[in-house]
Amino acid sequence: VLSCIPGRTNLCSNHSVTTPIDLPPDIRSSLDSLDLEGYISFNDVHNASKDFGNRYQLPPLAILHPRSVSDISTMVRRIVHLGSTSNLTVAARGHGHSLQGQALAHQGVVINMESLRSPDIKIHKGKQPYVDVSGGESWINILRETLKYGLSPKSWTDYLHLTVGGTLSNAGISGQAFKYGPQINNVCQLEIVTGKGEVMTCSEKQNSELFYSVLGGLGQFGIITRARIALGPAPHMVKWIRVLYSDFSAFSRDQEHLITKKNGFDYVEGFVTVNRTDLLDNWRSSFSPNDSIGASQFKSEGKTLYCLEIVKYFNTEEVNSVPQERFPLQETEKLLSELSYIPSTLFSSEVPYIEFLDRVHIAEIKLRAKGLWEVPHPWLNLLIPKSSIFEFATEVFNNILTSNNNGPILIYPVNQSKWNKHTSLITPDEDIFYLVAFLPSAVPNPNSGTSNLEYLLRQNQRVLNFCSATNINVKQYLPHYETQREWRSHFGNRWETFAKRKHTYDPLAILAPGHRIFQKAT
Ligand code: FAD
Repeated sequence: VLSCIPGRTNLCSNHSVTTPIDLPPDIRSSLDSLDLEGYISFNDVHNASKDFGNRYQLPPLAILHPRSVSDISTMVRRIVHLGSTSNLTVAARGHGHSLQGQALAHQGVVINMESLRSPDIKIHKGKQPYVDVSGGESWINILRETLKYGLSPKSWTDYLHLTVGGTLSNAGISGQAFKYGPQINNVCQLEIVTGKGEVMTCSEKQNSELFYSVLGGLGQFGIITRARIALGPAPHMVKWIRVLYSDFSAFSRDQEHLITKKNGFDYVEGFVTVNRTDLLDNWRSSFSPNDSIGASQFKSEGKTLYCLEIVKYFNTEEVNSVPQERFPLQETEKLLSELSYIPSTLFSSEVPYIEFLDRVHIAEIKLRAKGLWEVPHPWLNLLIPKSSIFEFATEVFNNILTSNNNGPILIYPVNQSKWNKHTSLITPDEDIFYLVAFLPSAVPNPNSGTSNLEYLLRQNQRVLNFCSATNINVKQYLPHYETQREWRSHFGNRWETFAKRKHTYDPLAILAPGHRIFQKAT
Protein backbone atom coordinates (compact mmCIF):
# COMPACT_ATOMS: atom_id res chain seq x y z
CA VAL A 1 0.00 0.00 0.00
CA LEU A 2 1.54 3.26 -1.08
CA SER A 3 0.04 6.51 -0.07
CA CYS A 4 0.22 10.22 0.38
CA ILE A 5 2.31 13.00 -1.06
CA PRO A 6 3.00 16.21 0.79
CA GLY A 7 0.65 19.01 -0.22
CA ARG A 8 0.45 22.49 1.22
CA THR A 9 -1.42 21.95 4.43
CA ASN A 10 -4.05 19.33 3.76
CA LEU A 11 -2.55 16.19 2.36
CA CYS A 12 -4.14 13.71 0.03
CA SER A 13 -4.45 10.12 1.17
CA ASN A 14 -4.64 7.89 -1.88
CA HIS A 15 -1.86 9.00 -4.12
CA SER A 16 1.01 6.72 -4.96
CA VAL A 17 4.34 7.33 -6.62
CA THR A 18 6.32 4.36 -7.75
CA THR A 19 8.68 5.75 -10.39
CA PRO A 20 11.33 8.43 -9.98
CA ILE A 21 10.57 11.82 -11.52
CA ASP A 22 12.89 12.98 -14.34
CA LEU A 23 15.52 15.35 -13.03
CA PRO A 24 15.55 18.71 -14.87
CA PRO A 25 18.95 18.90 -16.63
CA ASP A 26 19.92 22.27 -15.12
CA ILE A 27 19.30 21.02 -11.57
CA ARG A 28 21.19 17.83 -12.25
CA SER A 29 24.19 19.68 -13.61
CA SER A 30 24.06 22.10 -10.67
CA LEU A 31 24.25 19.18 -8.21
CA ASP A 32 26.73 17.25 -10.37
CA SER A 33 29.16 20.16 -10.38
CA LEU A 34 29.53 20.19 -6.58
CA ASP A 35 33.03 19.64 -5.28
CA LEU A 36 32.51 16.68 -2.92
CA GLU A 37 34.73 14.22 -1.04
CA GLY A 38 31.90 11.70 -1.26
CA TYR A 39 29.57 11.40 -4.23
CA ILE A 40 26.05 12.04 -5.41
CA SER A 41 24.05 9.34 -7.09
CA PHE A 42 20.99 9.67 -9.33
CA ASN A 43 20.42 5.99 -10.08
CA ASP A 44 19.83 4.08 -6.84
CA VAL A 45 17.05 6.36 -5.58
CA HIS A 46 14.68 3.46 -4.88
CA ASN A 47 16.96 2.60 -1.91
CA ALA A 48 15.82 5.77 -0.19
CA SER A 49 12.20 5.86 -1.29
CA LYS A 50 10.73 3.70 1.52
CA ASP A 51 11.09 3.26 5.26
CA PHE A 52 10.45 0.63 7.93
CA GLY A 53 6.74 1.55 8.06
CA ASN A 54 6.63 0.34 4.43
CA ARG A 55 3.50 2.29 3.59
CA TYR A 56 4.89 5.18 1.57
CA GLN A 57 7.00 5.15 -1.55
CA LEU A 58 8.34 8.60 -2.36
CA PRO A 59 11.52 8.54 -4.45
CA PRO A 60 14.06 11.34 -4.13
CA LEU A 61 15.83 12.77 -7.18
CA ALA A 62 19.27 12.07 -5.79
CA ILE A 63 21.16 10.53 -2.89
CA LEU A 64 24.22 12.19 -1.38
CA HIS A 65 26.77 9.80 0.10
CA PRO A 66 28.86 12.26 2.15
CA ARG A 67 32.41 11.64 3.31
CA SER A 68 32.68 14.83 5.36
CA VAL A 69 30.61 17.47 7.08
CA SER A 70 31.71 19.83 4.35
CA ASP A 71 29.93 17.62 1.74
CA ILE A 72 26.68 18.06 3.66
CA SER A 73 27.14 21.78 4.10
CA THR A 74 28.02 22.17 0.39
CA MET A 75 24.86 20.34 -0.66
CA VAL A 76 22.59 22.34 1.67
CA ARG A 77 24.15 25.63 0.52
CA ARG A 78 23.62 24.70 -3.12
CA ILE A 79 19.95 23.93 -2.50
CA VAL A 80 19.56 27.21 -0.62
CA HIS A 81 21.29 28.97 -3.50
CA LEU A 82 18.90 27.41 -6.03
CA GLY A 83 16.13 28.79 -3.82
CA SER A 84 12.67 28.89 -5.31
CA THR A 85 14.00 27.99 -8.79
CA SER A 86 13.82 24.37 -7.60
CA ASN A 87 11.53 22.38 -5.35
CA LEU A 88 14.48 20.58 -3.83
CA THR A 89 14.32 19.61 -0.17
CA VAL A 90 16.77 17.58 1.94
CA ALA A 91 16.26 14.67 4.31
CA ALA A 92 18.99 13.13 6.42
CA ARG A 93 18.43 9.40 6.46
CA GLY A 94 19.76 7.22 9.27
CA HIS A 95 18.65 3.66 8.70
CA GLY A 96 15.19 4.69 7.51
CA HIS A 97 13.46 3.12 10.51
CA SER A 98 10.76 5.78 10.46
CA LEU A 99 7.17 4.77 9.96
CA GLN A 100 5.37 7.31 7.76
CA GLY A 101 7.98 8.69 5.40
CA GLN A 102 9.69 11.00 7.90
CA ALA A 103 13.16 10.24 6.48
CA LEU A 104 12.08 10.61 2.83
CA ALA A 105 12.47 13.62 0.54
CA HIS A 106 10.09 13.24 -2.36
CA GLN A 107 11.82 14.70 -5.47
CA GLY A 108 14.51 16.05 -3.19
CA VAL A 109 17.91 14.93 -1.96
CA VAL A 110 18.34 12.22 0.66
CA ILE A 111 21.59 12.26 2.61
CA ASN A 112 22.75 8.77 3.42
CA MET A 113 24.17 9.53 6.89
CA GLU A 114 25.79 6.11 7.21
CA SER A 115 28.40 7.19 4.64
CA LEU A 116 29.63 9.91 7.00
CA ARG A 117 32.32 7.94 8.74
CA SER A 118 34.09 10.79 10.52
CA PRO A 119 34.78 11.18 13.31
CA ASP A 120 35.67 7.58 14.16
CA ILE A 121 34.11 6.50 17.42
CA LYS A 122 36.39 8.24 19.93
CA ILE A 123 36.13 7.48 23.65
CA HIS A 124 37.25 9.90 26.34
CA LYS A 125 37.77 8.33 29.74
CA GLY A 126 37.98 10.33 32.96
CA LYS A 127 35.59 11.53 35.65
CA GLN A 128 32.80 12.26 33.18
CA PRO A 129 33.47 9.95 30.26
CA TYR A 130 31.94 10.53 26.85
CA VAL A 131 32.16 9.31 23.27
CA ASP A 132 32.30 11.39 20.07
CA VAL A 133 30.50 9.80 17.14
CA SER A 134 29.25 10.64 13.68
CA GLY A 135 25.53 11.44 13.37
CA GLY A 136 25.12 8.40 11.10
CA GLU A 137 26.67 5.96 13.56
CA SER A 138 24.49 3.15 14.83
CA TRP A 139 24.02 2.57 18.55
CA ILE A 140 25.08 -1.07 18.38
CA ASN A 141 28.52 -0.03 17.04
CA ILE A 142 28.87 2.55 19.79
CA LEU A 143 28.03 -0.05 22.43
CA ARG A 144 30.53 -2.58 21.07
CA GLU A 145 33.28 0.06 21.06
CA THR A 146 32.60 1.60 24.49
CA LEU A 147 32.38 -1.85 26.13
CA LYS A 148 36.07 -2.33 25.28
CA TYR A 149 36.72 0.40 27.87
CA GLY A 150 34.17 -0.90 30.41
CA LEU A 151 31.88 2.01 29.50
CA SER A 152 28.43 2.40 27.96
CA PRO A 153 25.85 5.04 27.08
CA LYS A 154 23.25 5.19 29.85
CA SER A 155 19.96 5.54 28.03
CA TRP A 156 18.83 3.30 25.18
CA THR A 157 16.13 2.35 22.72
CA ASP A 158 14.83 -1.23 22.68
CA TYR A 159 16.51 -1.76 19.31
CA LEU A 160 20.11 -0.73 18.71
CA HIS A 161 20.32 -0.81 14.92
CA LEU A 162 19.12 2.78 14.80
CA THR A 163 21.33 5.82 14.22
CA VAL A 164 22.38 8.56 16.59
CA GLY A 165 20.92 11.32 14.38
CA GLY A 166 17.65 9.40 13.97
CA THR A 167 16.94 8.75 17.64
CA LEU A 168 18.18 12.18 18.82
CA SER A 169 15.74 13.78 16.37
CA ASN A 170 12.94 11.98 18.21
CA ALA A 171 13.93 11.23 21.84
CA GLY A 172 15.21 7.65 22.25
CA ILE A 173 13.05 6.07 24.95
CA SER A 174 13.43 2.70 26.64
CA GLY A 175 13.31 1.10 30.08
CA GLN A 176 16.22 3.22 31.37
CA ALA A 177 14.48 6.55 30.60
CA PHE A 178 12.82 6.79 34.03
CA LYS A 179 16.29 6.95 35.56
CA TYR A 180 18.43 8.84 33.05
CA GLY A 181 15.85 10.52 30.85
CA PRO A 182 15.65 9.68 27.13
CA GLN A 183 18.74 9.63 24.92
CA ILE A 184 18.30 13.35 24.13
CA ASN A 185 19.06 14.07 27.81
CA ASN A 186 22.41 12.31 27.65
CA VAL A 187 24.08 14.40 24.96
CA CYS A 188 26.86 16.87 25.86
CA GLN A 189 27.50 18.50 22.49
CA LEU A 190 26.41 18.40 18.84
CA GLU A 191 27.78 19.53 15.51
CA ILE A 192 25.02 20.68 13.20
CA VAL A 193 24.65 21.73 9.57
CA THR A 194 21.74 24.14 9.68
CA GLY A 195 19.19 24.66 6.93
CA LYS A 196 21.34 27.59 5.75
CA GLY A 197 24.35 25.28 5.33
CA GLU A 198 26.28 26.73 8.32
CA VAL A 199 28.31 24.28 10.42
CA MET A 200 27.75 25.02 14.11
CA THR A 201 28.85 23.40 17.35
CA CYS A 202 26.31 23.60 20.14
CA SER A 203 25.80 22.48 23.72
CA GLU A 204 24.00 23.63 26.89
CA LYS A 205 26.46 26.54 27.07
CA GLN A 206 27.27 27.25 23.42
CA ASN A 207 24.53 28.08 20.90
CA SER A 208 22.12 26.56 23.39
CA GLU A 209 18.99 27.48 21.46
CA LEU A 210 20.15 25.43 18.47
CA PHE A 211 21.18 22.58 20.80
CA TYR A 212 17.75 22.29 22.42
CA SER A 213 15.92 22.90 19.15
CA VAL A 214 17.64 19.97 17.45
CA LEU A 215 17.15 17.51 20.34
CA GLY A 216 13.74 15.97 19.70
CA GLY A 217 13.40 18.47 16.80
CA LEU A 218 12.29 15.95 14.13
CA GLY A 219 15.19 17.00 11.88
CA GLN A 220 13.61 20.43 11.31
CA PHE A 221 16.49 22.69 12.35
CA GLY A 222 19.67 21.02 11.17
CA ILE A 223 21.50 17.85 10.32
CA ILE A 224 23.38 16.23 13.20
CA THR A 225 26.83 15.43 11.89
CA ARG A 226 28.55 14.71 15.24
CA ALA A 227 27.34 13.97 18.75
CA ARG A 228 29.08 13.74 22.10
CA ILE A 229 27.28 11.14 24.21
CA ALA A 230 27.70 10.81 28.00
CA LEU A 231 28.94 7.43 29.23
CA GLY A 232 28.85 5.53 32.51
CA PRO A 233 30.32 2.27 33.80
CA ALA A 234 29.03 -0.75 31.88
CA PRO A 235 27.85 -3.77 33.86
CA HIS A 236 28.89 -7.26 32.74
CA MET A 237 25.57 -8.98 33.23
CA VAL A 238 21.88 -8.37 33.81
CA LYS A 239 19.30 -10.23 35.83
CA TRP A 240 16.27 -10.14 33.51
CA ILE A 241 12.87 -10.76 35.09
CA ARG A 242 9.29 -11.04 33.86
CA VAL A 243 6.28 -11.34 36.16
CA LEU A 244 2.58 -11.32 35.30
CA TYR A 245 -0.51 -9.52 36.55
CA SER A 246 -4.16 -9.96 35.73
CA ASP A 247 -5.15 -6.69 37.41
CA PHE A 248 -4.10 -3.49 35.59
CA SER A 249 -4.21 -1.36 38.75
CA ALA A 250 -1.78 -3.65 40.59
CA PHE A 251 0.48 -3.74 37.52
CA SER A 252 0.66 0.02 37.05
CA ARG A 253 0.93 0.66 40.81
CA ASP A 254 4.00 -1.59 40.94
CA GLN A 255 5.52 0.00 37.81
CA GLU A 256 5.09 3.48 39.29
CA HIS A 257 6.50 2.31 42.61
CA LEU A 258 9.60 1.01 40.85
CA ILE A 259 10.31 4.12 38.78
CA THR A 260 10.15 6.41 41.82
CA LYS A 261 12.29 4.17 44.04
CA LYS A 262 15.92 4.97 44.79
CA ASN A 263 18.34 2.09 44.21
CA GLY A 264 15.69 0.03 42.49
CA PHE A 265 15.88 -1.74 39.15
CA ASP A 266 17.96 -0.41 36.26
CA TYR A 267 15.30 -0.95 33.62
CA VAL A 268 11.50 -0.99 33.93
CA GLU A 269 9.17 -1.78 31.03
CA GLY A 270 6.03 -3.88 30.54
CA PHE A 271 3.69 -5.22 27.93
CA VAL A 272 0.10 -6.32 27.50
CA THR A 273 -1.14 -9.59 26.06
CA VAL A 274 -4.73 -9.54 24.91
CA ASN A 275 -6.38 -12.88 24.19
CA ARG A 276 -3.22 -14.80 23.40
CA THR A 277 -2.70 -18.44 24.24
CA ASP A 278 0.91 -18.62 23.14
CA LEU A 279 2.04 -15.97 25.59
CA LEU A 280 5.23 -17.69 26.61
CA ASP A 281 6.19 -18.96 23.18
CA ASN A 282 6.21 -15.34 22.18
CA TRP A 283 8.56 -14.53 25.01
CA ARG A 284 11.10 -17.01 23.75
CA SER A 285 11.84 -14.90 20.72
CA SER A 286 14.25 -13.00 22.93
CA PHE A 287 13.76 -14.16 26.53
CA SER A 288 14.69 -17.69 27.67
CA PRO A 289 13.79 -18.03 31.34
CA ASN A 290 15.76 -20.44 33.55
CA ASP A 291 12.49 -22.21 34.35
CA SER A 292 11.64 -22.91 30.73
CA ILE A 293 9.41 -25.90 31.60
CA GLY A 294 7.33 -23.91 34.11
CA ALA A 295 7.15 -21.08 31.58
CA SER A 296 5.98 -23.34 28.77
CA GLN A 297 3.28 -24.84 31.00
CA PHE A 298 1.84 -21.46 31.90
CA LYS A 299 -1.47 -20.79 30.14
CA SER A 300 -3.04 -17.36 29.83
CA GLU A 301 -6.42 -18.91 28.93
CA GLY A 302 -7.17 -16.07 26.57
CA LYS A 303 -7.25 -13.44 29.34
CA THR A 304 -5.73 -9.98 29.18
CA LEU A 305 -2.50 -10.13 31.15
CA TYR A 306 0.10 -7.50 31.98
CA CYS A 307 3.75 -8.43 32.06
CA LEU A 308 6.20 -6.37 34.08
CA GLU A 309 9.72 -6.58 32.65
CA ILE A 310 12.53 -5.51 34.94
CA VAL A 311 16.28 -5.74 34.94
CA LYS A 312 19.03 -5.39 37.50
CA TYR A 313 22.59 -4.84 36.28
CA PHE A 314 25.46 -6.64 38.04
CA ASN A 315 29.11 -7.49 37.64
CA THR A 316 30.33 -11.07 37.75
CA GLU A 317 33.13 -10.43 40.27
CA GLU A 318 30.59 -9.10 42.77
CA VAL A 319 29.34 -12.63 43.33
CA ASN A 320 32.59 -13.61 45.06
CA SER A 321 34.16 -10.41 46.31
CA VAL A 322 31.30 -8.31 47.66
CA PRO A 323 29.57 -8.99 50.98
CA GLN A 324 26.30 -10.83 50.39
CA GLU A 325 24.01 -8.02 51.51
CA ARG A 326 25.47 -5.75 48.81
CA PHE A 327 25.16 -8.31 46.08
CA PRO A 328 22.56 -6.92 43.64
CA LEU A 329 20.79 -10.22 43.16
CA GLN A 330 19.87 -10.18 46.84
CA GLU A 331 18.59 -6.63 46.42
CA THR A 332 16.52 -7.99 43.55
CA GLU A 333 14.81 -10.48 45.86
CA LYS A 334 14.03 -7.66 48.26
CA LEU A 335 12.60 -5.47 45.51
CA LEU A 336 10.49 -8.31 44.17
CA SER A 337 9.03 -8.94 47.62
CA GLU A 338 7.48 -5.45 47.45
CA LEU A 339 5.46 -6.30 44.31
CA SER A 340 2.06 -7.95 43.96
CA TYR A 341 2.35 -10.05 40.78
CA ILE A 342 0.74 -13.49 40.43
CA PRO A 343 3.12 -15.55 42.62
CA SER A 344 3.59 -18.50 40.27
CA THR A 345 4.59 -16.25 37.35
CA LEU A 346 8.13 -15.20 38.18
CA PHE A 347 10.46 -16.04 35.28
CA SER A 348 14.06 -14.89 35.09
CA SER A 349 17.39 -15.35 33.40
CA GLU A 350 20.90 -13.90 33.58
CA VAL A 351 22.46 -12.75 30.33
CA PRO A 352 25.41 -10.55 29.30
CA TYR A 353 24.59 -6.82 29.18
CA ILE A 354 25.11 -6.59 25.42
CA GLU A 355 22.83 -9.58 24.77
CA PHE A 356 20.06 -7.94 26.76
CA LEU A 357 20.42 -4.57 25.02
CA ASP A 358 20.55 -6.14 21.56
CA ARG A 359 17.52 -8.37 22.23
CA VAL A 360 15.23 -7.09 19.46
CA HIS A 361 17.87 -7.86 16.84
CA ILE A 362 17.40 -11.57 17.59
CA ALA A 363 13.70 -11.21 16.75
CA GLU A 364 14.66 -9.24 13.62
CA ILE A 365 16.88 -12.07 12.35
CA LYS A 366 14.05 -14.58 12.84
CA LEU A 367 11.46 -12.36 11.15
CA ARG A 368 13.76 -11.56 8.22
CA ALA A 369 14.32 -15.27 7.66
CA LYS A 370 10.55 -15.72 7.33
CA GLY A 371 10.12 -12.66 5.09
CA LEU A 372 8.16 -10.92 7.84
CA TRP A 373 10.42 -7.93 8.51
CA GLU A 374 9.76 -5.92 5.36
CA VAL A 375 5.98 -5.77 5.72
CA PRO A 376 3.89 -2.67 6.51
CA HIS A 377 4.14 -1.54 10.14
CA PRO A 378 1.15 0.59 11.15
CA TRP A 379 2.70 1.45 14.53
CA LEU A 380 1.18 3.91 16.97
CA ASN A 381 3.19 5.32 19.88
CA LEU A 382 1.36 7.35 22.50
CA LEU A 383 2.37 9.22 25.63
CA ILE A 384 -0.52 9.06 28.14
CA PRO A 385 -0.64 11.08 31.36
CA LYS A 386 -0.70 8.99 34.52
CA SER A 387 -4.07 10.49 35.56
CA SER A 388 -5.72 8.90 32.48
CA ILE A 389 -3.91 5.60 32.17
CA PHE A 390 -6.51 3.51 33.98
CA GLU A 391 -9.37 4.86 31.86
CA PHE A 392 -7.27 4.36 28.72
CA ALA A 393 -6.24 0.79 29.60
CA THR A 394 -9.75 -0.26 30.59
CA GLU A 395 -11.27 0.80 27.30
CA VAL A 396 -8.43 -0.01 24.91
CA PHE A 397 -7.31 -3.38 26.28
CA ASN A 398 -10.81 -4.67 27.03
CA ASN A 399 -13.01 -3.16 24.32
CA ILE A 400 -11.08 -1.76 21.37
CA LEU A 401 -8.47 -4.50 20.97
CA THR A 402 -9.70 -8.06 20.58
CA SER A 403 -6.18 -9.52 20.45
CA ASN A 404 -2.59 -8.51 19.94
CA ASN A 405 -1.65 -11.41 17.72
CA ASN A 406 -0.25 -8.93 15.18
CA GLY A 407 2.55 -7.65 17.42
CA PRO A 408 3.56 -6.46 20.87
CA ILE A 409 1.98 -3.67 22.90
CA LEU A 410 4.44 -2.05 25.27
CA ILE A 411 3.33 -0.02 28.27
CA TYR A 412 5.53 1.58 30.90
CA PRO A 413 5.70 4.80 32.89
CA VAL A 414 8.55 7.32 32.96
CA ASN A 415 9.39 9.95 35.48
CA GLN A 416 9.51 13.32 33.77
CA SER A 417 11.31 15.06 36.63
CA LYS A 418 14.49 13.47 35.19
CA TRP A 419 13.80 14.87 31.70
CA ASN A 420 15.12 18.15 30.36
CA LYS A 421 12.20 20.47 29.55
CA HIS A 422 14.11 22.67 27.08
CA THR A 423 14.28 20.18 24.19
CA SER A 424 11.77 20.18 21.28
CA LEU A 425 10.16 16.92 22.48
CA ILE A 426 6.49 17.29 23.37
CA THR A 427 5.20 15.26 26.31
CA PRO A 428 2.04 15.34 28.47
CA ASP A 429 2.11 17.89 31.23
CA GLU A 430 2.32 15.52 34.22
CA ASP A 431 5.31 14.27 36.20
CA ILE A 432 4.60 10.67 35.33
CA PHE A 433 3.32 9.58 31.94
CA TYR A 434 3.18 6.23 30.14
CA LEU A 435 4.61 5.22 26.81
CA VAL A 436 2.08 2.94 25.12
CA ALA A 437 3.42 1.46 21.90
CA PHE A 438 1.21 -0.57 19.54
CA LEU A 439 3.71 -2.35 17.29
CA PRO A 440 1.81 -4.57 14.83
CA SER A 441 2.97 -6.00 11.52
CA ALA A 442 0.49 -6.17 8.64
CA VAL A 443 1.10 -9.68 7.38
CA PRO A 444 -0.63 -11.00 4.26
CA ASN A 445 -3.01 -13.89 4.91
CA PRO A 446 -1.41 -16.91 3.15
CA ASN A 447 -4.82 -18.25 2.07
CA SER A 448 -6.58 -15.13 0.84
CA GLY A 449 -3.47 -13.04 0.04
CA THR A 450 -5.21 -10.04 1.65
CA SER A 451 -3.53 -7.91 4.29
CA ASN A 452 -4.94 -6.75 7.63
CA LEU A 453 -3.37 -3.29 7.20
CA GLU A 454 -6.66 -1.43 6.82
CA TYR A 455 -8.07 -3.20 9.88
CA LEU A 456 -5.01 -2.25 11.97
CA LEU A 457 -5.15 1.37 10.80
CA ARG A 458 -8.84 1.54 11.77
CA GLN A 459 -7.97 0.11 15.17
CA ASN A 460 -5.34 2.83 15.68
CA GLN A 461 -7.93 5.43 14.70
CA ARG A 462 -10.40 4.03 17.23
CA VAL A 463 -7.77 4.40 19.97
CA LEU A 464 -7.12 8.01 18.93
CA ASN A 465 -10.85 8.74 18.67
CA PHE A 466 -11.36 7.40 22.17
CA CYS A 467 -8.61 9.69 23.54
CA SER A 468 -10.14 12.64 21.77
CA ALA A 469 -13.72 11.88 22.88
CA THR A 470 -12.64 11.52 26.51
CA ASN A 471 -10.28 14.53 26.41
CA ILE A 472 -7.26 12.47 27.38
CA ASN A 473 -4.31 14.77 26.90
CA VAL A 474 -2.41 12.27 24.78
CA LYS A 475 0.72 13.17 22.80
CA GLN A 476 2.01 11.08 19.96
CA TYR A 477 5.62 9.90 20.16
CA LEU A 478 7.30 9.60 16.71
CA PRO A 479 4.37 11.84 15.74
CA HIS A 480 2.60 11.77 12.42
CA TYR A 481 -0.04 14.28 11.31
CA GLU A 482 -1.58 15.18 7.99
CA THR A 483 -2.20 18.90 8.49
CA GLN A 484 -0.45 21.88 10.01
CA ARG A 485 -3.50 22.43 12.20
CA GLU A 486 -2.84 19.07 13.85
CA TRP A 487 0.84 19.90 14.25
CA ARG A 488 -0.09 23.18 15.96
CA SER A 489 -2.31 21.27 18.32
CA HIS A 490 0.49 18.74 19.01
CA PHE A 491 2.87 21.54 19.99
CA GLY A 492 0.21 23.54 21.85
CA ASN A 493 1.66 26.69 23.40
CA ARG A 494 5.13 25.69 22.17
CA TRP A 495 4.16 25.99 18.50
CA GLU A 496 5.20 29.66 18.19
CA THR A 497 8.68 28.88 19.52
CA PHE A 498 9.00 25.85 17.25
CA ALA A 499 7.98 27.89 14.18
CA LYS A 500 10.24 30.81 15.14
CA ARG A 501 13.21 28.47 15.50
CA LYS A 502 12.41 26.96 12.12
CA HIS A 503 12.52 30.41 10.62
CA THR A 504 15.89 31.08 12.28
CA TYR A 505 17.68 27.86 11.36
CA ASP A 506 15.93 26.71 8.19
CA PRO A 507 14.18 29.79 6.75
CA LEU A 508 13.41 28.16 3.36
CA ALA A 509 12.03 25.03 5.08
CA ILE A 510 14.16 22.65 3.07
CA LEU A 511 14.94 20.15 5.88
CA ALA A 512 13.09 16.93 6.78
CA PRO A 513 10.04 17.48 4.53
CA GLY A 514 8.70 13.98 5.29
CA HIS A 515 7.19 15.17 8.58
CA ARG A 516 4.97 17.59 6.60
CA ILE A 517 5.14 20.28 9.25
CA PHE A 518 6.33 23.12 7.01
CA GLN A 519 6.17 23.61 3.26
CA LYS A 520 9.25 24.78 1.37
CA ALA A 521 8.96 28.45 0.48
CA THR A 522 8.48 28.89 -3.28
P1 FAD B 1 15.52 7.62 10.25
O1 FAD B 1 14.23 6.90 10.25
O2 FAD B 1 16.39 7.43 9.08
O3 FAD B 1 15.28 9.18 10.51
C1 FAD B 1 14.35 9.63 11.47
C2 FAD B 1 14.15 11.14 11.37
O4 FAD B 1 15.32 11.78 11.81
C3 FAD B 1 13.90 11.66 9.96
O5 FAD B 1 13.10 12.80 10.02
C4 FAD B 1 15.27 12.01 9.46
O6 FAD B 1 15.23 12.99 8.46
C5 FAD B 1 15.90 12.53 10.74
N1 FAD B 1 17.33 12.28 10.80
C6 FAD B 1 17.99 11.11 10.59
N2 FAD B 1 19.29 11.30 10.78
C7 FAD B 1 19.46 12.59 11.11
C8 FAD B 1 20.59 13.39 11.41
N3 FAD B 1 21.82 12.90 11.43
N4 FAD B 1 20.37 14.70 11.70
C9 FAD B 1 19.13 15.23 11.71
N5 FAD B 1 18.04 14.52 11.41
C10 FAD B 1 18.21 13.21 11.13
N6 FAD B 1 12.39 4.53 19.32
C11 FAD B 1 12.50 4.73 20.64
O7 FAD B 1 12.55 5.86 21.10
N7 FAD B 1 12.54 3.67 21.51
C12 FAD B 1 12.54 2.38 21.08
O8 FAD B 1 12.60 1.46 21.87
C13 FAD B 1 12.45 2.15 19.67
N8 FAD B 1 12.44 0.90 19.18
C14 FAD B 1 12.36 0.70 17.83
C15 FAD B 1 12.39 -0.61 17.34
C16 FAD B 1 12.33 -0.84 15.98
C17 FAD B 1 12.35 -2.26 15.46
C18 FAD B 1 12.22 0.27 15.09
C19 FAD B 1 12.13 0.04 13.62
C20 FAD B 1 12.20 1.56 15.56
C21 FAD B 1 12.27 1.79 16.94
N9 FAD B 1 12.26 3.08 17.47
C22 FAD B 1 12.36 3.27 18.83
C23 FAD B 1 12.01 4.24 16.61
C24 FAD B 1 13.28 4.94 16.20
O9 FAD B 1 13.74 5.77 17.24
C25 FAD B 1 12.96 5.78 14.99
O10 FAD B 1 12.67 4.88 13.97
C26 FAD B 1 14.03 6.74 14.58
O11 FAD B 1 13.53 7.36 13.43
C27 FAD B 1 15.42 6.20 14.36
O12 FAD B 1 15.58 5.48 13.17
P2 FAD B 1 16.76 5.81 12.15
O13 FAD B 1 18.03 6.03 12.88
O14 FAD B 1 16.71 4.76 11.12
O15 FAD B 1 16.31 7.23 11.60
